[in-house]
Amino acid sequence: RIFRLHITPLHGSGQGGAVVFLRDITERRNMEQMRSEFVANVSHELRTPLTSIHGFVETLLESGTDDPEMTRHFLEIIADETTRLAKLVEELLDLSRIEERRVVYRWQRVKIDELLDRALAVCGTYAEEKQVAIKANLSPRLPPLYGDPDMLAQVLINLMENAIKHTPPRGSVTISTSLYGDEFRLDVADTGAGIPPDSLPRIFERFYRVEKARSREMGGTGLGLAIVKHIIKGHGGRIEVKSAVGKGTTFSIFLPMEIQSNN
Ligand code: ADP
Repeated sequence: RIFRLHITPLHGSGQGGAVVFLRDITERRNMEQMRSEFVANVSHELRTPLTSIHGFVETLLESGTDDPEMTRHFLEIIADETTRLAKLVEELLDLSRIEERRVVYRWQRVKIDELLDRALAVCGTYAEEKQVAIKANLSPRLPPLYGDPDMLAQVLINLMENAIKHTPPRGSVTISTSLYGDEFRLDVADTGAGIPPDSLPRIFERFYRVEKARSREMGGTGLGLAIVKHIIKGHGGRIEVKSAVGKGTTFSIFLPMEIQSNN
C-alpha cells in the first residue's frame, strides 16, 4: 500500500508539537496508473493502423500507380485499416459512454427471440461465409426480459461475432436459454479454438487479446468483451466464461428476473 505522510504543526500549544498522520493513497495511485495505462493503450492502438496507412500511402506516392494489381492491394490494406480505426473510435466512445454512465437505458420488455433475430441479421452472413452453423435452443414460455433492447442486442452480437470468429469451418455456435429460480441465463457456446486458462481472467479487460497480432488481423479491437461486461452490469447481471483449448468456449450471461419485473 502507498501512504502519504501529513505533518500539521500544532500552534498555540507552546510546545512546538505537530500532528502526524498517514493517508492511504493506494486507491488513487491505482486509478492514476490505470488511467495512464489506458491512454498508452489507446495511443498504441491508434498508432498501429495509422502507421500502416501512412506507409502504404507514402509507397504509392513514391512508386506511382503504374502497377494496377499492387495499387489495388495497397488500397485494400488502407481501406481495411481505415475501417478498423473507425471501429476502434466507435467502440472507445461506446465504452466511455457506458463506463461514465452517460448512456440512458431505454428500459422495456424485450423478447429473447427478437434479440436473437436482430443478432442473426447482423452475424448470419458472417457465419454462412465461415460455414459455422448457428443453433438456437430456447426454452419455451420464457418471460420477456426487462432491459434496453439495443444494449442487449449489442451483447448478443458481440458474443456471437467472437464465437463465429474463433470457430473453424463446420463448427457451430449454440445459443441456449434457461431460467434458474429468479435468474435468467443465456449461453453462447462455440466449438472453436478455446481460451488458455491463464488468459481467461483477463479477457474482459480493455484491449486484452489472447493473440494480439492475430486478433488485430481479424479486425478485433479488444474492447468487445469490456463493453459486454459493462452492459450486463448495468442490467444488474453478471457474465461467466468456461473454455477448453481446442474444444470451445461458453459465455454465460445471468440476469436477475426480479429487477426486470420490478421495473
Ligand atoms: P476482440 O475485438 O479482439 O474480439 P474482445 O474483447 O471481444 O476483443 O475479446 C477479447 C479476446 O478474447 C479476443 O481477442 C480473443 O482472444 C478472446 N475471445 C473472445 N471470445 C472468444 C471465443 N469465443 N473463443 C476464443 N477466444 C475468444
